[in-house]
Amino acid sequence: PPPLPAFPPAGGGAAPLSPSLLSSPLPTAPAAAARLCSGAGGEAEAAGGDGAMLRHLARKLRASGPVTVAEYMREALTNPGQGYYTRRGGVGESGDFITSPEISQVFGELIGIWYISEWMAMGKPNTFQLVELGPGRGTLTEDILRVFKQLASVLSKCDVSVHLVEVSPKLSEIQAVMLTGGKVQPNPEDEFAYMKGISKTGIPIFWYRDIQDVPPGYSFYLAHEFFDALPIHKFQRTEKGWREVLVDIDPEVPDQLRFVLSPSRTPATQNFIQPEETRDHVEVCPEAGVIVQRLASRIEKDGGAALVADYGHDGTKTDTFRGFRNHKLHNVLSAPGTADLTADVDFSYLRKMAQGKTATLGPIKQREFLKNMGIDLRLQVLLQNSGDTATREQLLHSYDMLMNPEKMGDCFNFFALLPHHRLVHPGKKDKPESKSPLPPVAGFNELLLK
Ligand code: SAH
Repeated sequence: PPPLPAFPPAGGGAAPLSPSLLSSPLPTAPAAAARLCSGAGGEAEAAGGDGAMLRHLARKLRASGPVTVAEYMREALTNPGQGYYTRRGGVGESGDFITSPEISQVFGELIGIWYISEWMAMGKPNTFQLVELGPGRGTLTEDILRVFKQLASVLSKCDVSVHLVEVSPKLSEIQAVMLTGGKVQPNPEDEFAYMKGISKTGIPIFWYRDIQDVPPGYSFYLAHEFFDALPIHKFQRTEKGWREVLVDIDPEVPDQLRFVLSPSRTPATQNFIQPEETRDHVEVCPEAGVIVQRLASRIEKDGGAALVADYGHDGTKTDTFRGFRNHKLHNVLSAPGTADLTADVDFSYLRKMAQGKTATLGPIKQREFLKNMGIDLRLQVLLQNSGDTATREQLLHSYDMLMNPEKMGDCFNFFALLPHHRLVHPGKKDKPESKSPLPPVAGFNELLLK
């Protein structure tokens, strides 16, 4: 057969990107195996897997040229047939990375208390939806629902329902087993949900593929290690102006991928780079922006709050795109579909995308947030109640994982969207003395549960 046209076409194609352009060192996954923030330095694990996704991508790249990093990431993670989350799921000790709720039950319990504290501060509305984006194995929801059950007397007059936004069929199955014991109804006719069931604690649970399918109404949103999994665009400043980083097939090595630079500006370079940008390399996650806009609009209209927890920065970092497989760093371009791909969340971008529809709080470091939420007291209670040394050691070890600045304490952040009236009395400007002060928002301040 005639040789397939190689990209770049002679003269005017994409320029290969020298590794030095993406200069920050690859991060290393610590022995403890959480996906920590970028910049720790270290070696990436080599390729593997059955290659089905790579062959699919290679065909596509040969036929129509390089794709954006966002498109590559979307294919690798959520392609309906071969995507990483679709097939493997990844989360947990036996998976590729471990997350805070999988490390300690205390994490989810304190988040459950955060929602109750906000529900109380907002005047105890008689119904709310808990909406979780990307619930993984369902552990966080399970821990939150346990708190709701323990505080049933407080919530007794409140009608609570759970709404999970999950694209992965494999993970939604795991969530169903965890939360309902597997008793779920697929494709319920009366709902936009693709599955529904009842939690072991008696709360109705619904599953959706998209936040837009979740019914409107007073809602508490939760996104833990969700935004970091959404596709990013990458941009590089050059002498000729901004160029987008693309993924291409390497003409020298069969079925190997490489980064190249777009030969000219792309629609994304025009839309996503701020004129005042000072960095030389920028990552933008438009999908995260769209979701935050939706959350902010929904909270503005129907009330509630959103809590976002993830590793990230406030618009300062550059190259944070990385892969994880079997708890080790993995080259992002090798064996796509077999490794988790992730990038730090840019909280300054999320704040901007809320467009003033809600107030925002944070980002605040995980160790400060959990400390404010009373993690030390909770640890003491659990230590006192545990008889055996192994459990006590496990409790102390997981506390250290969550709180130690060198582990997850510093690089994970909490960020919240709240209705403006939650932070400032509507009439405050005119009559500053007229109302009692609003209760502080827990986590971002010390928890004061009355
Ligand atoms: N919150 C969990 C899991 C984090 S992993 C924890 O902390 O343990 C990321 C989760 O987001 C997975 O459940 C994955 O399937 C889901 N996910 C990834 N992309 C998604 C998308 N575009 N829409 C909905 N869910 C998505």
